[in-house]
Amino acid sequence: MSAIAYEPVVGLEIHIQLNTQSKVFCACPADSWGAPPNTHICPVCTGQPGALPVLNRAVVEKAVLLAAAVHCQEIQARSFFDRKNYFYPDLPKGYQITQYDQPIGRRGWFEVPLPDGQTRRLTIHKMHMEEDAGKTKNDPARGARLIDMNRCGVPLIEMVTAPGLRSAGEAAQFLIRLRQLLRWLDVSDANMERAHLRCDANVSIRAAGTTGLNPKTEIKNVNSIEAVRDAIETELGRQAREVSAGRRVEAWTLEWDEDSQTLHKMRSKETEADYRYFREPDLLPVEVADAWREAILQRLPELPLERRARFIEAYRLPAYDATILTEERSLSDYFEAASAAFGGEPKIIANWVQNEILRLTKEQNSPAGGLAFTAAHLAELVGLVEDKVITRQTAVGLISQVAESGRAPRALVEAQGLAQISSDDALRALAREVIAESPEQVQAYRAKPALLNWFVGQVMRKSKGKANAPLAEKILTDLLAE
Ligand code: ZN
Ligand code: MN
Repeated sequence: MSAIAYEPVVGLEIHIQLNTQSKVFCACPADSWGAPPNTHICPVCTGQPGALPVLNRAVVEKAVLLAAAVHCQEIQARSFFDRKNYFYPDLPKGYQITQYDQPIGRRGWFEVPLPDGQTRRLTIHKMHMEEDAGKTKNDPARGARLIDMNRCGVPLIEMVTAPGLRSAGEAAQFLIRLRQLLRWLDVSDANMERAHLRCDANVSIRAAGTTGLNPKTEIKNVNSIEAVRDAIETELGRQAREVSAGRRVEAWTLEWDEDSQTLHKMRSKETEADYRYFREPDLLPVEVADAWREAILQRLPELPLERRARFIEAYRLPAYDATILTEERSLSDYFEAASAAFGGEPKIIANWVQNEILRLTKEQNSPAGGLAFTAAHLAELVGLVEDKVITRQTAVGLISQVAESGRAPRALVEAQGLAQISSDDALRALAREVIAESPEQVQAYRAKPALLNWFVGQVMRKSKGKANAPLAEKILTDLLAE
């Protein structure tokens, strides 16, 4: 039997938790991470008789912003909410309010850069607004099943892509770029550990070179990018083995078990008819008039890939640097502000941002824009290094002092006498001291000239990092040759 080449056919359904203040149809706080169970609830989100939903405008605004950012050709001026009926303990109303046949956004696309330099343009079929359900969990000690309704009514956007992804790795890349976009737009915190981004994957295979679609399986319960990749990879392998053995792939719903790295068959999938969708009678149609849409779209920023391209073009940055600097909007703003204030070669600022500023944002768990060490501080500090007023080492040491004191780098350099030692006499004196104190190393140096670096290091130490290193190296070379 000859081996057949199969092409993976993967589409995703993603649930995105919006970072609004309040829930989608009531005034309860939307973010209840870490809150005790059932403390962020009210009659509306727990479905008490007579309670009526009121649509949160901020949800519509974030949905429109995201729809525009993924190039939806239709951002509907009029969309509708519907009831999706099903019975489950975490759904107190007995139905979920969602958008069924008239969603807010349709026919978009999203470009995913792939590691080989190619890009994959993935069609977004539709995106709609809906509410989240609650959470249930087992309590084996009491033999009970517990329900937490804090998440009932938390605003979500569900995004459905075409089956245009061609590997598990591409699906992972898509999620990485989507997460970046969501944060960039400030639409979602997109923290997967907090379930802000939940992904179902539709997976099938077909003979390479064909275009039809075969029965697919749907993988549920994948909540990290690594898990999405692993689950899809596992399922693609299983389907290839089934088909190679002459069996058919059946349209199952599968659940990914992170611990055992295996897929389990869940219930057979409900059909749409089982949900008995109908228009939500308690809500008006969602009207997004032109003026409102225009006002929202004014807030649409330059998107990450556009900004990356501009950084390469306008600042002559290597693609690698541009990629890192545009990972987060705040970091890219910081780079641009520092670069403008510095006025010199942008690559110099790019290096400082990638080393010192990225380190600071991690240490302080803060976006670059929130650092006490501002872009203006960085520009001034780098200027002092480039003008050879201070050494690089001194500059790095000054960063935390600037952040703590709020004083400008130049003022601290003057107040503490940190200016670089570039005087020939002063450096020569330090070098002589080092040589006098280190007879063994002087001996060893004659056989091993690479030890010069060790001597330079000693001079730097004695000068508390202020010695002009290239000059010290030259002086040491002369003195050691005597
Ligand atoms: Zn509520
Ligand atoms: Mn949904």
